[in-house]
Amino acid sequence: MNQAKTAVVIGAGFGGLALAIRLQAGGTQTTLLEKRDKPGGRAYVYEDQGFVFDAGPTVITDPSCIEELFALAGKRIEDYVEMLPVSPFYRLCWEDGRHFDYANDQDALDRQIHDFHPADVAGYQRFLAYSKAVFEEGYIKLGTVPFLSFRDMIAAGPQLAKLQAWRSVYGMVSRFVQDEHLRQAFSFHSLLVGGNPFATSSIYTLIHALERRWGVWFPRGGTGALVKGLVRLFQDIGGRIELNAAVAQIETRAERASGVRLADGRFFAADAVASNADVVHTYAALLNQHPRGESEAASLRKKRFSNSLFVIYFGLDHHHSQLQHHTVCFGPRYRGLIDDIFKGPALAEDFSLYLHAPCVTDPSLAPPGCGSHYVLAPVPHLGNADIDWEVEGPLYRDRIFAYLEERYMPGLRSQLVTSRIFTPFDFRDQLNAHVGSAFSLEPVLTQSAWFRPHNRDSALANLYLVGAGTHPGAGVPGVIGSAKATAGLMLGEPA
Ligand SMILES: Cc1cc2nc3c(=O)[nH]c(=O)nc-3n(C[C@H](O)[C@H](O)[C@H](O)COP(=O)(O)OP(=O)(O)OC[C@H]3O[C@@H](n4cnc5c(N)ncnc54)[C@H](O)[C@@H]3O)c2cc1C
Repeated sequence: MNQAKTAVVIGAGFGGLALAIRLQAGGTQTTLLEKRDKPGGRAYVYEDQGFVFDAGPTVITDPSCIEELFALAGKRIEDYVEMLPVSPFYRLCWEDGRHFDYANDQDALDRQIHDFHPADVAGYQRFLAYSKAVFEEGYIKLGTVPFLSFRDMIAAGPQLAKLQAWRSVYGMVSRFVQDEHLRQAFSFHSLLVGGNPFATSSIYTLIHALERRWGVWFPRGGTGALVKGLVRLFQDIGGRIELNAAVAQIETRAERASGVRLADGRFFAADAVASNADVVHTYAALLNQHPRGESEAASLRKKRFSNSLFVIYFGLDHHHSQLQHHTVCFGPRYRGLIDDIFKGPALAEDFSLYLHAPCVTDPSLAPPGCGSHYVLAPVPHLGNADIDWEVEGPLYRDRIFAYLEERYMPGLRSQLVTSRIFTPFDFRDQLNAHVGSAFSLEPVLTQSAWFRPHNRDSALANLYLVGAGTHPGAGVPGVIGSAKATAGLMLGEPA
């Protein structure tokens, strides 16, 4: 296969950015087209009255996959962005008043596990060993391999069987750990990439080993500073990025993509086109003039999609020094609530929350003495729950604020300087996300690897996918891994 001389990448999420950098560094003149006014995709940034709010990813794991992008381009990450370690990784809190500080300190972990259930200290060691084995197999060996043929899947089969990949994350954790708090503490991770711990493959326990191996990081200046660093890197090596550039059409000629047409009429010709936009949007809207578009979109619509999220970004004139950087606030129900979130059909009365307090690590994200925050609640996607978020959003925000004020942040509502919400409607309308899903296709075994939309389209040979909807899936390391798999195909190198 000849390497494309020119390429267009649609969408500047982490996946699109990472792919554009790899292509440009590999000698393909690359243009990145982003519909919004800022790059980052789910990692957008809001700024208001001196408060800086990262819209999406805040738990940065596997910094090595980011460093690799800089190294490929002959640069050093330190010259672009400073990565700060976060400890504890998370504080997990329950309504009975107990909490667990999950950190990379074995003694501290053992002490806390012992306090919950002494026998689980040994059980945790066995779980960690299992999670490390899955990590080696699922992340290191298969995470950046494009699964284009079923043969690749069959080749991976014996190892997946040995690791009992058919079990769920929660099911596997429960084989090692008895205490219900600890089962939650070691199984919630798949939710970070849109996976239901009771349905998604135990392969996703690898996130635990990944965090233990490389830690949890936060860029100084927020995740937005990392996005800015990647954009600057791309431009420094000659890449071109256009913002406010919504692609309306992928144009084709003789069963190949010939370029893309923007909503404003401009045409960008390219030898290869890669889409980082939502996979259903890519086929249904951008490829609607080709029969492949509708046929693939119809088959994708039948798949299971991950949940959506309801997010509140808020700035306070007070710094809550009792908080950790990342807090998971478990509600009264775990399995029942997760069932409601993944199946709908309505919004549950209770919720579990993730609370982000970045000023704990980097006070510069708010005016002196103040605090920037966001809180998110996983909610059903629009295909499962027909909720009018115009009406429900403000009411849900008020319930969440009242809950946070009562249990975690005394005085919150009187300290409020600014707030905004992001609902499943915004995922649908601003990010073109099918059914407003926050993480694209649900990461269940039957929708993973070869069963996920492939990194290269199977009909149009120079059309590629990158990002959460393709292999390996959502999450920052996942989509950066997808860029490696896709770039390997586009540059004609083995991944
Ligand atoms: C609130 C939230 C918190 C999260 N927290 C974490 C976390 O802590 N850690 C973690 O690892 N992961 C986290 N995730 C998941 C992670 O953010 C995503 O999986 C990942 O960022 C998705 O990247 P992507 O490359 O698939 O592209 P996206 O970020 O989805 O970007 C796609 C881009 O394509 C653009 N686009 C769409 N259509 C068009 C078009 N027609 N023309 C031009 N451009 C178009 C969009 O505007 C967007 O910029 C979180 C997600 C959310 C929503």
